[in-house]
Amino acid sequence: MYISKLFIPILKNNPSEAKIKSHQLMLRVGMIKQSSAGIYSWLPLGFKVMKKIEQIVREEQDKIGAQEILMPTIQSSEIWKESGRYEDYGDEMLRIKDRQDREMLYGPTNEELVTDIFRSSVKSYKSLPQLLYHIQWKFRDEIRPRFGIMRCREFYMKDAYSFDINDEEALFSYNKFFLSYLKTFKRLDLTAIPMAADTGPIGGNLSHEFIILAETGESKIFTDKRIFDLESDGTKIEKKSLEDLRKKYEQFYSVTDEKFNKDEFEKKVSEPNRLKTKGIEVGHIFYFGDKYSKPMDGSVDLPGGKKDFVKMGSYGIGVSRLVGAIIEAKYDEKNEVMKWPISVAPYDVSIIPMINKNDNSALEKANKINLEFEKNNIDSIIDDTDENLSSKIKKMNLIGAPFQIIIGKQTEGELLEFKEIDKETQKIGLGEIIKIIKEQKAKI
Ligand code: ATP
Ligand code: MG
Repeated sequence: MYISKLFIPILKNNPSEAKIKSHQLMLRVGMIKQSSAGIYSWLPLGFKVMKKIEQIVREEQDKIGAQEILMPTIQSSEIWKESGRYEDYGDEMLRIKDRQDREMLYGPTNEELVTDIFRSSVKSYKSLPQLLYHIQWKFRDEIRPRFGIMRCREFYMKDAYSFDINDEEALFSYNKFFLSYLKTFKRLDLTAIPMAADTGPIGGNLSHEFIILAETGESKIFTDKRIFDLESDGTKIEKKSLEDLRKKYEQFYSVTDEKFNKDEFEKKVSEPNRLKTKGIEVGHIFYFGDKYSKPMDGSVDLPGGKKDFVKMGSYGIGVSRLVGAIIEAKYDEKNEVMKWPISVAPYDVSIIPMINKNDNSALEKANKINLEFEKNNIDSIIDDTDENLSSKIKKMNLIGAPFQIIIGKQTEGELLEFKEIDKETQKIGLGEIIKIIKEQKAKI
């Protein structure tokens, strides 16, 4: 695809209103455009990245047996009155009246709505467990929207809900999501650490936040460095294996400031392993038992004929926030180089030909290379403008396709100037380049 034909409104300089690097870069390369406070339009480049993230999130939900649904953004206030949260939610909830004067709201989350869907059709324990998720826009009227799409008012979230017969089964569901989150973030090339948000007894508040390290993050974290070396590889989706995985992570102290206790931290973590830093919350999983099923009468028939309220958990991932979180983790601000993980990169490779008014040969070469890429499912972007080579490279460094091919004076014969965006240039043939890119893509 030619850059001249794409809608990528690039700014020459960093926008002054943006305080953190993800916000700066997203505005600079035209990934988003603010429409009003905390509300953004997603332009082609940003939308492409977000859709790729969404797809990875979806695949990892499907792998644990969660089923995708789509609930509306606008909800009736009735169900929120049933759960008792209509008043509690306060000013963060955007309340709307329809023409019949009915109280509606733009959903900030979906526990009530999904419980209503569940209770209207599931009556027996035989249909359990049920794991349902959707990926949908949410609205929270944040008091101080900031940092672009990191803390905005309208944002895109994956939220899943589990329904189980008892605490033991509910914990199994919880652990499935725990695993699925580790795998999701790994595919996004992020190290997200699960932080105990509460360690109360089963049936109480079992909860983990998944946090990635970033100086600009809004969560203060206190953790044992050894947690970064853990892996989820090889975990089977069965009770024991999943329980062991969660325990393996939980053996290391890792909490946000809400749960921080200085004495405990110093007792449990030896000096060299202590890490106090900041992070971005990208996911949150929560077990809350019958908190909603009880007031909303979501019950099922048990084997002996008795009834009980179904045990629920909810599991969120900030899909739109992740776009910014990946930039915070990967953008080299000093050298102005963004390297997207290939799993979510807007393009796999950028082709940068040097074009003169009376010499089109480099562009012709670029077209030929592009044809070969297309045959191999490699997505490329060609800079077909007549800007000078160094400003083209600068631009592509910001757009962030992880690989680049530069077709300049040096390019003669079959060998091409190829580089991984943050590494040295090498001169290799097209066949070799295709192999390298395909190998990287296969790892996703
Ligand atoms: P935070 O503590 O950051 O306000 P939260 O605990 O209120 O988040 P949850 O209800 O757990 O958020 O929502 C699930 C996920 O949705 C969060 O982990 C986060 O990634 C994302 N998210 C929440 N609020 C916002 C927001 N205002 N803008 C963008 N993403 C958000
Ligand atoms: Mg949270």
